[in-house]
Amino acid sequence: MPQQSTIDWNSIDTVLLDMDGTLLDLNFDNYFWMTHLPKRYCDIHGGDRDQVRMQLYEKIMSEKGNQRWYDLTYWSNHLEVDINALKCEIQHLIQPLPYTQKFIQFAQEAGKKLYIVTNAHIDGVEIKMGQVDLARHFERIVVAFEYDEPKESDAFWPLLQQDLGYDPRRTLFADDNTAVLAAAERAGIAEVIGMRCPDSKGTRNELTGHKAVDNLGFLVPQ
Ligand SMILES: [Mg+2]
Repeated sequence: MPQQSTIDWNSIDTVLLDMDGTLLDLNFDNYFWMTHLPKRYCDIHGGDRDQVRMQLYEKIMSEKGNQRWYDLTYWSNHLEVDINALKCEIQHLIQPLPYTQKFIQFAQEAGKKLYIVTNAHIDGVEIKMGQVDLARHFERIVVAFEYDEPKESDAFWPLLQQDLGYDPRRTLFADDNTAVLAAAERAGIAEVIGMRCPDSKGTRNELTGHKAVDNLGFLVPQ
């Protein structure tokens, strides 16, 4: 049974939330990169679909954790396809994860300051926020590209803190990426929460070594 996570909400006034795999279903992104992009790449450039899928997978994975991994302009140029247009073809798959709205409503009513903090490219953020009605609940959406450092980097966190002016000792951060969770812990964020079920159609990540929940609903006091 997934456990309710106990958070002392009186000691938290800022909530920083990752977008893909935390607020939104990572199924969209996984489906896009693993299935839709290889299919449409073959439509556009030709080639054997299985071979193309493997080649694209290798190319994409070789940039994992780097700024380039998140840079849609880079991938559009490098692969000679319009990534944004292809994403829009399957935008109906952009969905909040279970209990995202419930958590946001709780945090807002409790007077917390809410921010989205994402490594995603601004174009991807715009496509997603155009599809789900979430942006209005947040003070701001911070895109890591603004600082030229991804969230995995120790250099990212002082820049974010300077920019938003939060007290890390009174801040909660949730994300589905273990390298990012570790960086947030090193930066002294009081409550760092991992997301075990980022993709509604994918496998569960145990995230041992981090405080973790299945979805944001488990952070809402009962
Ligand atoms: Mg994520």
